[in-house]
Amino acid sequence: MTLVPTRIQLNRPLPPLTYLAPEGLPAGVRVRVKVRTSLAVGLAMGPDPAPPAAKLRPIEAVLDPFPLLPPKLRELQAFAARYYGCLEAHLLPLSLPQALLPHWEADEEALLPHWEADEDGQRLSFHRERGAWDVLSDLGEAWHRDPAILPTLLHRSGLRSAGFTEVRLTGAPHPPRVTPAQAKVLLLLEEAGGALMEPELLESASVGVSVLGTLEKRGLIARMKRVDLLGQRRAAGPDRTVQLNEEQRTALEAVPLGAFGVHLLQGVTGSGKTEVYLALAERVLAQGRRVLWLVPEIGLTGRLLDRLEARFPGRVAVGHAGLNAGEKHGDVVRLLFNGADLFVGVRNAVLAPLRDIGLIVVDEEHEGSYKSEEHPRIHARDLAIKRAQLEGCPIVLGSATPSLESWQAARNGRYQLLQLRQRPAGITLPSVEIVDLRDAYRQLRRKVILAPTLMQALTDTLAKGEQALLLLNRRGYENFWMCRACGKTLGCPHCAISLTYHRGDYRLRCHLCGHETVPPEACPDCGADHLRGVGEGTEQVEDHLRQLFPAARILRLDRDTTRRRGSFEAGLLAAESGQVDILVGTQMLAKGHTFPRLTLVGVLNADQGLKVADFRASERTFQLLTQVAGRAGRAELPGRVILQTYSPEHPAITFALAQDFEGFAASELPFREGLGYPPFTALSLYRAEADTPKAARDALDAFRQRLTVPGLRVLGPLEAAVPRVRDQWRMHLLLKGGRGALGEVLARHPLDPAGSISLDRDPLQFG
Ligand code: ADP
Ligand code: ZN
Repeated sequence: MTLVPTRIQLNRPLPPLTYLAPEGLPAGVRVRVKVRTSLAVGLAMGPDPAPPAAKLRPIEAVLDPFPLLPPKLRELQAFAARYYGCLEAHLLPLSLPQALLPHWEADEEALLPHWEADEDGQRLSFHRERGAWDVLSDLGEAWHRDPAILPTLLHRSGLRSAGFTEVRLTGAPHPPRVTPAQAKVLLLLEEAGGALMEPELLESASVGVSVLGTLEKRGLIARMKRVDLLGQRRAAGPDRTVQLNEEQRTALEAVPLGAFGVHLLQGVTGSGKTEVYLALAERVLAQGRRVLWLVPEIGLTGRLLDRLEARFPGRVAVGHAGLNAGEKHGDVVRLLFNGADLFVGVRNAVLAPLRDIGLIVVDEEHEGSYKSEEHPRIHARDLAIKRAQLEGCPIVLGSATPSLESWQAARNGRYQLLQLRQRPAGITLPSVEIVDLRDAYRQLRRKVILAPTLMQALTDTLAKGEQALLLLNRRGYENFWMCRACGKTLGCPHCAISLTYHRGDYRLRCHLCGHETVPPEACPDCGADHLRGVGEGTEQVEDHLRQLFPAARILRLDRDTTRRRGSFEAGLLAAESGQVDILVGTQMLAKGHTFPRLTLVGVLNADQGLKVADFRASERTFQLLTQVAGRAGRAELPGRVILQTYSPEHPAITFALAQDFEGFAASELPFREGLGYPPFTALSLYRAEADTPKAARDALDAFRQRLTVPGLRVLGPLEAAVPRVRDQWRMHLLLKGGRGALGEVLARHPLDPAGSISLDRDPLQFG
């Protein structure tokens, strides 16, 4: 056997290292190597054409019988690394669960995947010596042909969680007396956010199962089989295949399978977009190819999974951060062995190790959550388009309110535009009306949370036994505290924003860094006891509603009430099953959920998002209002939407009132064009962070001086919208230009990964 220099990528933010490995070892196979004196797992990346002159070490073992990363996915990662200016190593953890790519500090045990016995009952470790690649690859082929002999590719912790018994805190009040062992269990659960897998918990607490039994009897914890939970949901409901209407059929037929093409499917909520995706998926699966289906957030997957599982039983796998490690691991492993044909997931699922993709769906394509706001700052929708191109398959982007980027691409013919203009029978558009808060103020001579029109509508809705949803995009009790004597607001000592008052916990809290403090009695600056809260948040609205409607069942859903895993889904289920009269919360309520008895939607401050200094403020407000309006009256019950606003003449509000996306786009695009913003130019945001504002500015100034690429507009350095976060000062340098020129900047002026500047390509947030 010949050993040749081969690049090995470790799960570390470093470029690949070079080792000697068997000739013909395909890229994407995991290997075990020695790094200095310890062992590590790495991915083979193909032969090194220009190996270093130094003496090379051989690898220790080949771990997999076939590449875990399909070749097309490696191409996608290479593209993404170039485009976003990161290392491929940064993208690996997004493709494979951590358990499959341990760091080299991981204990020896974690580095040994347990390939279970093969057909002959021999442990695969037997074949795992350096030279056995051919033996392993034969086995790999056999598995691919017949997934029924699926081995369990699980390392220790994965294996243990295969039983999927989850232990959860019930939330019952902590009793005064618990044993030390019980206390340990409760504490660990608390720290883990309320739930842990049983084996993990038992080991970390080093207690026996009997302790859990006792706690369960005392009502402090609950034990559930997660598989059962998911299984139940996934099995729910028989498939009720609908007869597609004319528009849906036209859209379906307009998407040629087996060829790359971007298709923008635009239609209001409930117009039947999902039925079109399902029909396309059915055709693609029938051809033996696979489907990648992206959704913007976890909360959306539950109901969708029911529909998918009903239509394609046993063929669906899921990947999102809401799953625990075992579940995520399990479903990704199913993908690796071709044990699932349709993969649904949020942002990172765009990099899932799915082979032979025949269709990609990106639902709610305009959603900002597709963009990562952490390094590497990938945009899943944009990468999905690249992936479709590499796979040679169609991609369908769907939305009621497409991003102006996608809309413009459809208008100039780069994407094919497909529209659903009617809602299927039985579903009517809600009536939308505006309440001018300036009038309400003039009449009542005080600021009101609920204007009389909305109050009356709420009272009527409750009287009829129907549901209402109230949206306010600000959590906490009061937005900030201000001293009436000196005018100062109470700010975070680490960030350049004010602290928000949370009355339930009696804390002032920073929403950026989490800093919190007990509210002071008097102003820390002038000593006067004239502190006063300004700007109501969801917590206060909830309080207010409880006073106004003491008999109503009120549920608040925002980031504060949904910290625990599964609590958001639980809240939605309660609302869907009619156990809630008034839902109040932030924009997490606006997205694609269906509440059958919901007939009233109230937006308490519709123009709140317009005050932000961001060229997308108007677009986001329009999207939010349209989405939330789509929640009302989906079934037989007609819906009513009331928007409270101080700026009733703003286009984002008036076009939302008319539910007119095209009108909005036509009014907004000329502004973008005039100011040179996307979709008419591309942006690269260079972000500097440093201990002092000067250091941040100097770094960007130096970068700016060096720039040699022509045809760019450079703005800055400017202070970020929030100039200081966690004691770091933040400055921005914004580059506008063509994608080619911006790519050229990246190639000519690569950033030092250890430096103070980072790149945000196609930025969405300027905070
Ligand atoms: P969207 O994805 O655009 O919000 P959906 O595909 O979820 O819309 O459709 C909304 C509702 O209408 C669903 O309950 C769906 O089953 C139903 N529906 C969609 N198309 C049809 C049709 N052609 N005939 C009957 N019902 C339909
Ligand atoms: Zn802070």
